[in-house]
Amino acid sequence: MLASSLVVIAILSIVTFLLIREQAAAQQAATRAASNIVQLIDADVLRNVELYDLSVQGLLAAAKRDDLKDVSPAIRHLAYFDRATAAPYKGDILLLDKNGDVVADSASEVPRKGNYADREYFQSHVLDPSPDMKISPPFRARSGEHDWRISFSRRWSDEQGEFKGVAESAMRLSYFSQLFKSLNVGHGGSVNLISRDGILLAQEPPVAADLIGKDFSNRPNFVRILREGNGSFTALSSRDQQLRLYTFSQVGDLPLIVVVALSAQEVFASWQRTALLVSGATGALCIGLLWLTWLLRRELRRRHIAEQELAKLASIDALTGLANRRTLDETLQQEWLRAQRSGQPLSILMIDADHFKAFNDRHGHQVGDEALRNLAQLISEHVRRPADLAARYGGEEFSVVLPETTTAGAFSMAQAIREAVEQLPPVHPGEAPMTVSIGIATWVNGPYEELKQLLFAADKALYQAKASGRNRVVCAM
Ligand code: GH3
Ligand code: MG
Ligand code: MG
Repeated sequence: MLASSLVVIAILSIVTFLLIREQAAAQQAATRAASNIVQLIDADVLRNVELYDLSVQGLLAAAKRDDLKDVSPAIRHLAYFDRATAAPYKGDILLLDKNGDVVADSASEVPRKGNYADREYFQSHVLDPSPDMKISPPFRARSGEHDWRISFSRRWSDEQGEFKGVAESAMRLSYFSQLFKSLNVGHGGSVNLISRDGILLAQEPPVAADLIGKDFSNRPNFVRILREGNGSFTALSSRDQQLRLYTFSQVGDLPLIVVVALSAQEVFASWQRTALLVSGATGALCIGLLWLTWLLRRELRRRHIAEQELAKLASIDALTGLANRRTLDETLQQEWLRAQRSGQPLSILMIDADHFKAFNDRHGHQVGDEALRNLAQLISEHVRRPADLAARYGGEEFSVVLPETTTAGAFSMAQAIREAVEQLPPVHPGEAPMTVSIGIATWVNGPYEELKQLLFAADKALYQAKASGRNRVVCAM
């Protein structure tokens, strides 16, 4: 039972270990897939930013040329803005003078009326003489649909490095929604774009209405994403309390973070099915094993009991219920050796029913058997000490082994048996009673060298009892 319990524990441990490893593998695969998505977006955005910057640089180069001042506004517009500005997700490209007024506008040959001096990027170019591109934080457009945008801008300086204005190009963040739509993140998953300040800028598929533009910087999962910038973790969504696998990365150098949120249920669905199947099968196997062990144990116990009963049966006499000849021989051998060691006396009684052949002839075998049973019962009633043994020697002859008993003790027991047999009621009233003759031999440091001799002496004493008239006890001299 202990061994099979250990086997069951071992099987359960191995299966648990494998299932945990399998779960980790499923999570790893999902994380890898999400990372691929994030990297795909990253690469796409970087290429686009490059295009925006090229447009801005083209505009600045054209603005610095004196020869373009004299051409028609239509030609100048063509020179300032390349065809890439026609891309649907692209916001307008503007050239602003040092006061922030629009002097060239990709949207029309006649620039719009507007002043952008209050924009953060404009102010930073005023202060910073560096010609490098600056990326703005996300902002809402002032015109049109007031959608979310990010702008890429460079400073317009004259030869002396004096500030002349800013060339700026804006990217509509709806571009990301377009990009995200082509990605499959499974049921319950979403691709999100958040600003470094925690504002949700784009989401596909939309998990709820009116989330775009909301500030998520106080949600615990977003706090962690904003703090780490790159990585992945599994956590409960504060929105619907579902377990999600978040994988996220900053987009290039932009103040944007892409977050791929996968439904843990979806990620682990296949694993869950396998786990259910495997643990069910393992459970059945273990229960089966324990059950078989229990059956085997029960069978062994039954067999043990049966063997014990068989051994008992083999040691007793069927007719009288006394010990049989085999047990008698074994006990005699044991007691003989014990007496040799201890020096204690060993007595033996040989009891034989008188004229039993005649008894049988008179009453029949059935009644003879009954009489033998009664005789056996009577003898065993006189044998009370635990070490004493009453046995059927064979036929109508019985033996009693009496360890640590002197001739005198054996003689008084023999007399008691003989008298009691005489007292047994006869089969028919008025008939002569049944009698027994008893021979006794005792070993007390001799005179017998062997057990055989002791038995022979008892037999001889019995013969003497018979010869001298029966119904008496004779001790071997
Ligand atoms: P003795 O006084 O000299 O012992 O005479 P006896 O007739 O008892 O001696 P004997 O050995 O000649 O006969 C023994 C008889 O005991 C023979 C048999 O009929 C009877 N006997 C032996 N075993 C059984 C038994 O199991 N059942 C019955 N009913 N009789 C038995
Ligand atoms: Mg006999
Ligand atoms: Mg006899």
